[in-house]
Amino acid sequence: MEHIFPEDTPTYFADAEASFNESDIVLFGVPFDKTSSYRKGSRYGPDAIRKASWNFESYNFKTNVDLQDHFIHDYGNLSVSNEISANQMIEAVRAFSTSIIEQQKIPVAIGGEHSLSAAVVESFAKNVCVLFLDAHADFRESYQGERYNHACTLRRIVDHVGSDKVFLCGLRSAGKEEYNELTKQNISVSDSYSFFESKKGDIIKEIQSKFLNQPIYVSIDIDVFDPAFAPGTGTPEPFGLFPHDVLRIIDALIPQIIGFDITEINPEFDQGQTSFLGAKMIRHILERLLNKGVV
Ligand code: MN
Ligand code: MN
Repeated sequence: MEHIFPEDTPTYFADAEASFNESDIVLFGVPFDKTSSYRKGSRYGPDAIRKASWNFESYNFKTNVDLQDHFIHDYGNLSVSNEISANQMIEAVRAFSTSIIEQQKIPVAIGGEHSLSAAVVESFAKNVCVLFLDAHADFRESYQGERYNHACTLRRIVDHVGSDKVFLCGLRSAGKEEYNELTKQNISVSDSYSFFESKKGDIIKEIQSKFLNQPIYVSIDIDVFDPAFAPGTGTPEPFGLFPHDVLRIIDALIPQIIGFDITEINPEFDQGQTSFLGAKMIRHILERLLNKGVV
């Protein structure tokens, strides 16, 4: 990463300088990619996203929010590594996000592999709805003998909240059995092909009516974006979504958002652009939450 980010770039997320206690928003990194099956390296994602975050102005004229004026805490990385099991990583994430949620703060988890999202969702009460943005279904019961494999994330989330509380957007890859299971369990899906064929506003309305007046957690697997925008990821899938489309969806749901994550950024496979997209995405969502008075 030395050639991508200036050497003296701080190691915490830009403008997240407040203490845990005084902050309404808590960022934390999960440097773990042990179950990644294809191109490992998302364990370097949290630090790359932090470094990338210093590229941006603290003020955004579009949201009229200056992040420097707000109380945001970057906890740093949880002490997890590939030396521990996926179950131990899940335990660590669940314990930490529970401590954030108990204090009515908004958790922002930075991956690392996507499996961590299940642990954050499990920290919320079962009435939370989940917008799952992913090229993949992540709906296998287990994968390579591991129930908390990153190929099982949506399945674990459904175990907690139920199949009627999730919406999968951006799908363009699933095993046959996996896809049949999605259908059998009646999971709401907007695949990336129908996404491009339909009016974006219609899909937003569909998500809004499904999640009407309910709290929403947003889980972003960076591979939901087209690899043209996000090449730095373990399992890139062409025919993906555009960043502006995802912004529109998230903006429409902002008043209901109670936490989010961004996962699967692998800085070893690009020139930093995926980390910049991830960092800007985090900043944008934070600005919208603050601008709308959600926090
Ligand atoms: Mn995923
Ligand atoms: Mn994926």
